[in-house]
Amino acid sequence: MSSVDLTDKSLLGRLEAMSAEELVGWAFENFGERAAIGTSLQLTGTVIIDIASKRAESFRVFTVDTLRLHDETYESIAKTEERYGIEVERFYPNEQRLIDMVSRFGEYLFFTDKAKQEYCCEVRKVEPNKRALRTLDCWISGLRRDQSAHRGGVAKAEVVDVEGRSILKLNPLADWSLDEVWRYIKDNGLVYNKLFDKNYDSIGCVICSTPLVEGEAPRAGRWRWFGKCDDEKKECGIHIKNEKGEAK
Ligand code: SF4
Repeated sequence: MSSVDLTDKSLLGRLEAMSAEELVGWAFENFGERAAIGTSLQLTGTVIIDIASKRAESFRVFTVDTLRLHDETYESIAKTEERYGIEVERFYPNEQRLIDMVSRFGEYLFFTDKAKQEYCCEVRKVEPNKRALRTLDCWISGLRRDQSAHRGGVAKAEVVDVEGRSILKLNPLADWSLDEVWRYIKDNGLVYNKLFDKNYDSIGCVICSTPLVEGEAPRAGRWRWFGKCDDEKKECGIHIKNEKGEAK
């Protein structure tokens, strides 16, 4: 059990002032196994895992396996485990919910309309992510402010309500630019998801994430068939908050 008081009004300000390295080290020092890095093995997750390997004696990493990830992402998970000698915890969709969804609407329901895509994301991503969050009190995520206008206000530290329980959510790289992320990866010789060499900017499931063409905004490759829509519509629901700050 952590002794960190989430109601302490000075806490978030103190965490906001920390560097990414300090923040990741602080998280595992104070929360131990009740802290975990949640990642889909994108660039920021790759960096945060490396920082944790240098700042923490041991650290947890989890991912949501939607069962529709790219081969390159599965390869990246395996390489991460090998490099750091860790086991990336996998959280899968609930089997019965998945069977119900696919038998009612088919495997490719996400093409139909936004509501069906969100339903698919709820079953394959959001619900398994909630199950992961039940195992922790400190969720370390890779959100950055320059990923989209919707993410422009991301804080390095915030208290979020998950299923009626307050937990600490940290975004250690919130103030890093994409160039800084790449510099860290190159300087430290990190192995990253090969899709980033094929013009992907944001990686989720096969079909739903596609490479960018020159000049496109980050995340434009998500659910491309819906055309241009506001940034919030380019979120899968894991990181969207309702008015109470609750992670849906
Ligand atoms: Fe379903 Fe696509 Fe969302 Fe993956 S990204 S969970 S396939 S809608």
